[in-house]
Amino acid sequence: MARRQTVWVLGDQLNRRIASLADAVPGDTCVLLVESAAKLRSKRWHRQRLHLVLAAMRRFADELRAAGFTVDHRQARSFAAGLAAHRREYRPERVRVMEPMSWSMRQWLARQDVDLVRNNQFLCHWEDFAAWAADRPRLRLEDFYRWQRRRLGMLMEGDAPAGGRWNYDRENREPPPRGRVPWPAPRRSRLDALDRAVLAALPPTAFGAPPDGTWATSRAGALERLQHFIVHNLPRFGPHQDAMTTTSWHLAHALLSPYLNLGLLHPREVCEAAEAAYRAGAAPLASVEGFVRQIIGWREYVWGVYWLWMPAYRDENRLGARRGLPPAFASAARTRMRCVAETVRGIEAHGYAHHIQRLMILGNLGLLAGVAPRAMVEWMWASFVDGAEWVMLPNLLGMALHADGGRMTTKPYAAGGAYIRRMSDYCTDCPYDPQRRSGDEACPLTTLYWAFVDRHRGRFAQNPRMRVAIATASRLADLPAIRRRAAEVLARLDAGTL
Ligand code: FAD
Ligand code: SF4
Repeated sequence: MARRQTVWVLGDQLNRRIASLADAVPGDTCVLLVESAAKLRSKRWHRQRLHLVLAAMRRFADELRAAGFTVDHRQARSFAAGLAAHRREYRPERVRVMEPMSWSMRQWLARQDVDLVRNNQFLCHWEDFAAWAADRPRLRLEDFYRWQRRRLGMLMEGDAPAGGRWNYDRENREPPPRGRVPWPAPRRSRLDALDRAVLAALPPTAFGAPPDGTWATSRAGALERLQHFIVHNLPRFGPHQDAMTTTSWHLAHALLSPYLNLGLLHPREVCEAAEAAYRAGAAPLASVEGFVRQIIGWREYVWGVYWLWMPAYRDENRLGARRGLPPAFASAARTRMRCVAETVRGIEAHGYAHHIQRLMILGNLGLLAGVAPRAMVEWMWASFVDGAEWVMLPNLLGMALHADGGRMTTKPYAAGGAYIRRMSDYCTDCPYDPQRRSGDEACPLTTLYWAFVDRHRGRFAQNPRMRVAIATASRLADLPAIRRRAAEVLARLDAGTL
């Protein structure tokens, strides 16, 4: 029977309240979901990521059927083939789609005779972000964040920030606590027949450990994970946000990004739950503010700049980085650097690394070694359960690799082994010495850090935040030895023997 309209729900819009579905009536609406074989084959995806997306789509289809909707959940060669087959079979008068998360998909949809509905999966639509950004010489995160807090009324007391301060970042930079801390274990669900069917049909190129139930694949599961975070981890979220430890792959991190990115959770409900915990005295303000800043600040900010700067942004490579992806990123067995091996092992096991591992281990090594931004983007996008172009490009090109020349940051996020030693326990059992710049035992990050400053001293000469590092580098007596060691480190990084 022909329905008046079809709502096509994309795989990262899995929520009954998305703008295209919110007011849809079951008797009038058919919901289309397409699993595209071309998309599944487009990268060497992590097994847990593919499982998460496909299982979540199938469970969402079941929820909609239970709510009375006709659902056409089809597997097709491509999105175009799926849409065409659906039109032939169901003959809808119109097809509605909520604006997608990726720039390329939006360009493609604009040519498909579909009605695009304004995206409501973020608290700041990109048009509102563009209006905020207009005429500003610099798009400072802190300015955007305060603007969001005010207009959304989050953690506010009248016109003032709750507790009298906007930002508790200074309290949130502690190294890992000494000894083994029992960070609350993540919730796990039991895999069922639907999970097994999804796993059996994954492409043979998928890599990584099979799912162990850590990542929820339904709205109900995502809500349960949110509740678990608010009760058990939010109170300790703040202080060790930047810490890394071999004793826990997650510390007090939220583990909520995949649900937010797939639509299973909405940023408003997540922030409201955190604020309610603060108001009830169940979580300290420094932790709650730190968490809310990640969501309505950083997350919405990178979403905004992605849309503002695309499509030119994806080709940014101002440092001219050309190196291929180090073999160590594909396999922990290809490096003795403990910080890198631990992080890569975490990705292999969970499809996840926390923020500081992404920024200061993987991103930092990519920056210092001059790995091509495109290679880093493709690898991380495919390897993380929460990967997506809109979040990957600003975080990698803007934050980690300085590939956009400093549009998001005032200086490169470059660091040697001393930083890793302060913020982690990785260096203890590493064969390299974080304090040494040259020689066979020198920490590769320390060597590459000084080689990076040396190599780019002309480029950053006018940057006040780089002046001390540049002056120090030019006084180093062992600079020739550092340069020699850097060449050797890079050769061994390429060979997968570092
Ligand atoms: P928490 O550390 O507990 O933070 C809470 C939430 O804040 C996250 O769930 C996330 O939604 C949001 N958030 C925090 N920082 C950022 C940020 N910089 N950008 C966007 N959202 C943020 N995030 C992704 O969702 N997908 C990615 O593919 C991704 N790739 C990244 C690559 C690099 C190089 C870097 C530096 C960061 C990347 N991030 C990405 C941002 C951030 O690292 C992850 O969102 C976070 O680690 C997810 O884990 P969590 O849910 O435990 O987060
Ligand atoms: Fe990483 Fe260097 Fe520390 Fe080894 S010594 S864990 S390579 S920072």
